Amino acid sequence: MAKYWNEKVECMSREDMKKLQDEKLVKQVRHVWDNVPYYKKLMEEKGVTPDDIKSTDDLHKLPFLKKDDLRECYPYGLLGAPLKDCVRIQSTSGTTGKRVVAFYTQNDIDLWEDCCARAITAAGGTSEDVVQVAYGYGLFTGGAGIHGGSHKVGCLTLPMSSGNTERQIQFMRDLNATILCCTPSYAAYIGETLKEMGLTPNDINLKAGIFGAEPWTEEMRQEIEKSLGIKAYDIFGLTEISGPGVSFECSEQNGMHINEDHFIAEIINPETGEVLPEGSKGELVFTSLDKEAFPLLRYRTRDICVLSRAKCSCGRTLVRMTKPMGRSDDMLIIKGVNVFPSQIETVLLKDFNATPNYQIVVDRVGNTDTFEIKVELSDEMHTDTIKSVEMLEKKLSADIHQILGIRAKITLCEPKSIPRSEGKAVRVIDKRKVYNA
Ligand code: AMP
Ligand code: ZN
Repeated sequence: MAKYWNEKVECMSREDMKKLQDEKLVKQVRHVWDNVPYYKKLMEEKGVTPDDIKSTDDLHKLPFLKKDDLRECYPYGLLGAPLKDCVRIQSTSGTTGKRVVAFYTQNDIDLWEDCCARAITAAGGTSEDVVQVAYGYGLFTGGAGIHGGSHKVGCLTLPMSSGNTERQIQFMRDLNATILCCTPSYAAYIGETLKEMGLTPNDINLKAGIFGAEPWTEEMRQEIEKSLGIKAYDIFGLTEISGPGVSFECSEQNGMHINEDHFIAEIINPETGEVLPEGSKGELVFTSLDKEAFPLLRYRTRDICVLSRAKCSCGRTLVRMTKPMGRSDDMLIIKGVNVFPSQIETVLLKDFNATPNYQIVVDRVGNTDTFEIKVELSDEMHTDTIKSVEMLEKKLSADIHQILGIRAKITLCEPKSIPRSEGKAVRVIDKRKVYNA
């Protein structure tokens, strides 16, 4: 059984990998300078030109890119290839108005699918396998990336998308799916449903699962492994950098190997931007070395983690990242959707004349996220009759759904009923335990 999808790069010596990255970085910086005026300007502001970047040792000289830059550049401002050469866009979940859209040339798609093929192979997948893709298909990168990777490996691919859980289980049984790919919370839900249907892991043929797109704990891994009778592998990625497969777990299940031939990872201090030495906990920053259409340099992910070059018994030499341990911004991932509290605040304050006394409460019941927004009534809201309160609740609920793509329970409260804080206001109460302690 093939152990690696691309042994040459996955097991490359550190020196050879650095040489490869050095060469690619010099070329990529030139490509960006020549084709992306927005980033060229950032470089000029920092007094850097492509001539200053001779190897990865000079990476720290380049300016960072943040999500705000991506929003400002929406939709075409960071495009690095002519639109006629682009074949696809994907987009991050849940953001309104100025979404983050990422463009792909055919080479970019091949690269991304190749990364997913590495992840599937690392999870034991071969052309003998039947891969059930229960990530959402569409603008979200989950479905498309794994789908393409599964084709590359030659697996029989079931493009289920998410939802309709009993049917998922029926297909899983009828078609002998061996590898399940979806978000960890959906995997847990499938496990729960299996049990409710009076079935056990012996009634299905799954051997592995590849789960990502949201944080999950080791406890959750164990629960999923038990309920489905599988080995559960983590996979990490973000739309801006390509999608799932930026890094993936191997049989060691101890950190995710980053596809360093395509993406350079750095860890920085999120406050100062200073690059931290290996083993430090900080914010993960990626530079994409090969992407043509959306070639982001030093993109700040806001994910907090640690990198390790300790030898891995799987034989891969690719650097490993821990599971994300938190975020350096306030983004929540609720039901798989990225939610910024500021999006909710804008709706409440701007569109509904609410006071800033509101609270976002997130919890997990069984394996499903719950999402409640408590809003204090104010005089300006004109809610003097029961009917007007009901109307307000309905309208708020619809607006939040439209903006985020997920539903929240809206609870309107009496004035002054939400506790005031003497320090920083506590607007978000996340009762879930999604990150490892
Ligand atoms: P999106 O581009 O909308 O799919 O969101 C990307 C973000 O999802 C990342 O920056 C992480 O915060 C989160 N994410 C993706 N994969 C994982 C994972 N395996 N574990 C924890 N968080 C993840
Ligand atoms: Zn390994």
